[in-house]
Amino acid sequence: MADPKGFMSTPRQEWPRRPVDERVRDWNEVYVPGTLLPIISKQADRCMDCGIPFCHHACPLGNLIPEWNGLVARQDWRAASDRLHATNNFPEFTGRLCPAPCEAGCVLAINQPAVTIKNVECAIADRAWEDGYVEPCPPERLSDRTVAVIGSGPTGLAAAQQLTRAGHTVVVYERDDRLGGLMRYGIPDFKMEKHHLDRRLEQMEAEGTRFRAATVVGRDIGADELRARYDAVVIATGATAWRELDVPGRDLAGVHQAMEYLPPANRVCAGDLKVSPLSAAGRHVVIVGGGDTGADCLGTAVREGAASVTQLDIYTMPGTERDEETEPWPTYPKIYRLSAAHEEAATLRTAPAADADARLFAASTLRLTGDDSGHVRGLHLVEVDAQRRPLPGTERTLPADLVLLALGFSGPDRSDGLIDQLGIELTPRGTIARDAHFATNVFGVFAAGDAARGQSLIVWAIAEGRAVAAAVDRYLMGGSELPAPIGPYDQPMKV
Ligand SMILES: Cc1cc2nc3c(=O)[nH]c(=O)nc-3n(C[C@H](O)[C@H](O)[C@H](O)COP(=O)(O)OP(=O)(O)OC[C@H]3O[C@@H](n4cnc5c(N)ncnc54)[C@H](O)[C@@H]3O)c2cc1C
Ligand code: SF4
Repeated sequence: MADPKGFMSTPRQEWPRRPVDERVRDWNEVYVPGTLLPIISKQADRCMDCGIPFCHHACPLGNLIPEWNGLVARQDWRAASDRLHATNNFPEFTGRLCPAPCEAGCVLAINQPAVTIKNVECAIADRAWEDGYVEPCPPERLSDRTVAVIGSGPTGLAAAQQLTRAGHTVVVYERDDRLGGLMRYGIPDFKMEKHHLDRRLEQMEAEGTRFRAATVVGRDIGADELRARYDAVVIATGATAWRELDVPGRDLAGVHQAMEYLPPANRVCAGDLKVSPLSAAGRHVVIVGGGDTGADCLGTAVREGAASVTQLDIYTMPGTERDEETEPWPTYPKIYRLSAAHEEAATLRTAPAADADARLFAASTLRLTGDDSGHVRGLHLVEVDAQRRPLPGTERTLPADLVLLALGFSGPDRSDGLIDQLGIELTPRGTIARDAHFATNVFGVFAAGDAARGQSLIVWAIAEGRAVAAAVDRYLMGGSELPAPIGPYDQPMKV
C-alpha cells in the first residue's frame, strides 16, 4: 500500500466511455482508448490493503486484489501481471466483461465508492500484453496422458490451458467455426473486441493446446470414439438451451431468440456478412427480458439503426441503493444499473413508450399480434406487481416488428446427442450432474461451467475451468498441484 490515506484524497474515477453519439456509429469497445493508464495508479492507491480483504473472497477466482492494487499503485506492472495471472488465465476478458462482485464486496463500499478493481485488472492485463509479459508457458515435460475438452468457451479454454501446462496433450473440440463460446458469437464487440480472444488462442496454441473447430461432438465424432481415444473427457458445452415465451403469436415471423439475433450481428463485425439477416435497421424492436443478454440486444439494435427499441423487464424497478436487510454488504446486490447500452438508449431516447433508458419495468407480455402476412407488428403487455399479478387497466400495445426473446437459458443443448450417447445423468434443473470432484456418472468424464453450474458468468466459468483441470489432473496422475479455486457446489456470497 503506497498511500494509506489514498481513499480519502482520491475520488473514484472509472475508465471514461466515449460519447454516445460517437460510439453508436461503430462496433468498437465503448471506452476512450488511452485514458485508463493515466488514471489507474491513483485509483489503485485508494485500496486500503485490508486485513481481511472481502474483495478477494467475493471473487470466485480468489484474485489477489490487494496485492496487485499495491503493485499498480507503485507502477510495478510486471509483478502485478504475475500476481494477476497466478489466479486468472484470462484477465483481459474479466477486466472487460465481469460485473465485478469484488467491487460490491470491497470494504470501502461500506460507506463510499469501491476501488475500481475491474479497471485495475483490465489495465494490468492490457499493459502485460503491450509490454510483452504474456508469453507462452509450455510444459517442461509431457505426461503421455490425453484429454478431450468439449466446448471452447471460457470454461473449456481455462481447463485446456491448465491441463496443457500440466503436461497433458489436450484437444479442444468446438462446434462453431470459430473458438471462444459465448464470448465469440454472443457477446458483442462493443463489450469486448475479438482480438483479445484471438491473442489468447494464439498463446494457447503456442503452448501446445490443439483446437478442432467446426466439429460437433456427438455428430461429427461419436462420444464413444472420444472416450476410446482420450484418457479423460471434460464437457464444457455451456447452457445454451434457451427459455421460450409461451404466449399467443410466438410463431409469427420476426420473433427471434436473442441467441439467433446476436450471432449474425457478431459475424458482420467479423467480416463474414455485409448485413445481418435479422438486422434491426428501421424496425421497432421490443426485447423481452431485462438481463444482460437483453442489454446486448439493445446495444446491437441501436447500432444497427432501429427505429425504436424497448426492453421489457418483469421485475419492478430496483432502487439505486442496496437493501441492507436482504442484500447487505458484501453481497452482490440487485440495484438499478445503467449499462453502456442503457446509457446509449437514454441519451438517444430510442424507446417510444418506455422509461428514459428504454427499459419498461414490471411489464409482462400478454400476446403478440401480426399483419396479414403473418409478421409480428405489436406486443401487448400489462403491468404487474411484485408478485407478477396483472394490474387492471394497465394493458397497452407497443409497436413491434422485431421481437427478441432474452429470457435466459435452462441447461445444456441436447440436440447434438452428446449427453444421451454418453448416458450422462442430469440434475432436476436439467444441468449435468457431477460429484464433489467434478466427475459425472460416466467414468473418466467430467463436467464444468454453465453446462453443469447453469447459466452463470465468465469469472465463474474460468474458476470452473481451473477447478475441473485440477480434478482431471488428480484423476490422471493420482495427485495435482493445480489450483482449484472453487468446488462444484460453491455459490456467490449470500446472507
Ligand atoms: C449474450 C450473452 C452475453 C453475456 N455477457 C456476459 C458478460 O458480459 N459477462 C459475463 O460474465 N458473462 C456474460 N454472459 C455469460 C457468459 O458468457 C457465460 O456464463 C460463459 O460464456 C459460460 O462459459 P462456458 O465455457 O461454460 O460456456 P459457453 O461460453 O457457452 O461455451 C460452450 C461452447 O461449447 C460449444 N459446444 C456445445 N456443444 C458442443 C458439442 N456437442 N461439440 C462441440 N462443441 C460444443 C458451444 O458451441 C460453445 O462454444 C453472457 C451470456 C450471453 C448469452
Ligand atoms: S476490500 Fe477494497 S479496499 Fe480492501 S483490499 Fe480489497 S480492494 Fe482494497
